Amino acid sequence: ALHVTGIRKSFGALEVLKGIDLTAMQGDVIAIIGGSGSGKSTFLRCLNFLEHPSAGTVRINGEEIALARDGHGNLAPSSGAQLRRIRSRLAMVFQGFNLWTHMTLLENVIEAPVRVLGLERKDAVWQAEALLDRVGLGHKIHEYPSFLSGGQQQRAAIARALAVDPHAMLFDEPTSALDPELVGEVLKVIRGLAEEGRTLVLVTHEMGFARDVANQVVFLHNGRIEEQGPPAELFGRPKSERLGRFLGNF
Ligand code: ATP
Ligand code: MG
Repeated sequence: ALHVTGIRKSFGALEVLKGIDLTAMQGDVIAIIGGSGSGKSTFLRCLNFLEHPSAGTVRINGEEIALARDGHGNLAPSSGAQLRRIRSRLAMVFQGFNLWTHMTLLENVIEAPVRVLGLERKDAVWQAEALLDRVGLGHKIHEYPSFLSGGQQQRAAIARALAVDPHAMLFDEPTSALDPELVGEVLKVIRGLAEEGRTLVLVTHEMGFARDVANQVVFLHNGRIEEQGPPAELFGRPKSERLGRFLGNF
C-alpha cells in the first residue's frame, strides 16, 4: 500500500497543499479531480519528491521513507539512494511527453532498470521489448520519440514507467496534451493496468474514465480534500456544493 499523511506544501507565502492524507491499497485506482490550481499536480509531485513537501509522511508497503530538511526547510529524502528507491517504487507519467528525446524507445525503457535497478542489459532489453510490445509499440522500438505521435509517446512513457515494476504508478493528466483521437489508445493501456491489479493514482479531467476505472475518487479544492469516495457516490450524489458545481462544468 501507499500511505501518505499530512502532506503540506507552500511556495513562498502561498500554501498550496493544506494537509492531504491518502491511502492506496494494492490494486486501488484512485482518481484525483479538481479545478485548475487546486494542487493536484503539486500533490503527485510531492509523492515522489519532484517537489519537497513542507510537512507529511510517506509510507510505501509499510516502510516509512526517511526524510530530512533541505536548505529551504522542506522535506527531502535523506539520501540519493533513498530518492532512487522512491522513484523506482512510484513511477510517474506526466502530461507532456517526457521521454528522453536523444534515445530510442528501447533505450528509454531500459535506462532505469539498468542504471537504477542494476539489471543486466540483455535482460533489460528483453523486458523492454515485451513492455513496448504490450503497449502496441513492438514495431517502433528503435524509433526516436520525435517520430512518434503523442499517443505513441505516451504509451512508450507508460512502458518506461512499468519497466521498474513500480509499487504504484502516478499519472498526471496523461491524455490532456493529446489530440482527441489519440486519447482512447492511451486510456486503453491505463485501463489494462487497472485490470491487472496495478495500484494507480491518476489526476485526470476525463470524468467518464474516472467513473469507469477508479474505485475511489478524490476531489481536491484549494489544497484540501473536499470530498472523497467511490465514483458512483461522488459523481452520482456529490455532497459538496463545490463538487456539484465542478462536475456541472463537464
Ligand atoms: P491544473 O489542473 O491547472 O494542472 P493543479 O491542480 O495541478 O492545476 P498545481 O499545478 O498543483 O495545480 O498548482 C497549485 C498552485 O500552486 C497554483 O496556484 C500554482 O500556481 C502554484 N504552484 C505550482 N507550482 C509552483 C511553483 N513551482 N512555484 C510557485 N507556485 C507554484
Ligand atoms: Mg496540474
